[in-house]
Amino acid sequence: MREKPAQLVSLDVNRASGGLREPLFGLDAESLSKLLVAAGEPAFRGKQIAEAMYRQWLTEVPEITTLPAPLRAKLSAESWQIGRPTIACAFKSVDGTERYLVEFAGSAPKGETAEAVWMPEGDDGEAGDETSPHEKDWSRATICISSQIGCAVNCQFCLTAKLGLQRNLTAGEIAGQVVTVLDRQAVRVGRDRVNLVFMGMGEPFLNYDNFMAAVRLLVREVGLSPRRMTVSTSGIVPGIEKFAREPLDLRPKLAISLNAPNDAVRAEIMPINHKWPIAALINAVRQVPLRPRERITFEYVLLGGVTDQPEHAHELARLVRRSGLPAKVNLIAWNPGPDIPYATPKPETAEQFQGILMDNGIPAYIRQPRGRDIFAACGQLKRTVEA
Ligand code: SF4
Repeated sequence: MREKPAQLVSLDVNRASGGLREPLFGLDAESLSKLLVAAGEPAFRGKQIAEAMYRQWLTEVPEITTLPAPLRAKLSAESWQIGRPTIACAFKSVDGTERYLVEFAGSAPKGETAEAVWMPEGDDGEAGDETSPHEKDWSRATICISSQIGCAVNCQFCLTAKLGLQRNLTAGEIAGQVVTVLDRQAVRVGRDRVNLVFMGMGEPFLNYDNFMAAVRLLVREVGLSPRRMTVSTSGIVPGIEKFAREPLDLRPKLAISLNAPNDAVRAEIMPINHKWPIAALINAVRQVPLRPRERITFEYVLLGGVTDQPEHAHELARLVRRSGLPAKVNLIAWNPGPDIPYATPKPETAEQFQGILMDNGIPAYIRQPRGRDIFAACGQLKRTVEA
């Protein structure tokens, strides 16, 4: 005999306007428990739903077989949905990088997408003893995710800036990009080396509360380590100051998108520098308590002729040294984008720049561009649909 839907107190609260239901994905175990208790269910049902969404990566309410069938029927009858983001389109680069257009559930406008990028790194021979039946052709990987659709910061070298800010993503939409990519790539949380970088579309510190709520979900519910997460900011000083007060067990590492060695050049390529010049930025970064051996990353896009000259490297070295911060510099040769009037420096220019920093005792790395052919590289995310 088929079970009838249970006669429960309605769960029909929190319905978004227009009759659309907001996703369950994004609520933590505690909020889910409160929701279930309000509907006359035991609190542990909320934990079971959290476990199903964040650990088992189930995507449909009827799949949550730890819940009794009448409760599943009730949730479905009331149109509750897990509502995890989905991949609407995927582009694969010759270097293995995959760029995804991610679509959101609930009241998110149809057809609206943000971008996430999967960057696997091959086994360089150091970890060639993979004996697990879990076959994969990467030994570590990085997932780059978006915190907003578009961006208001208007860095002159960035393609995302051309979109302007369309909206903030919710915590569930930010964390959902991660879980969707982990699921697609069959990542084993706690066993595979996967880093997260909040460096996709948007400025995370202009969507601070949702960004940090996403981090809490990813740490507490999904089981990822904040030490494997890095957030990059263009230099939103009040955001950095708040970030400095986050508990260490929830705080990702910090990267500053610096890109210039002085205020004059920085203000030209990053108008945000008018509001928060370099000295204010460095002062704010100094307030962030670091873990043992943790370093601040300064990201520096090399723009041919604009920021890549030897005098820029010397000035940058002085700036980093004077800051007194344990820091490293990541150099990124500018990735070309349509209608952006900058030039990509030659590899030898980037190497010379790196050499000057290293001679001055500053750890400096040249980041290899990933997925340039599919517009997945840094500063290239703009919902481009060409592969
Ligand atoms: S570089 Fe980052 S902060 Fe600057 S416009 Fe692009 S997405 Fe926004």
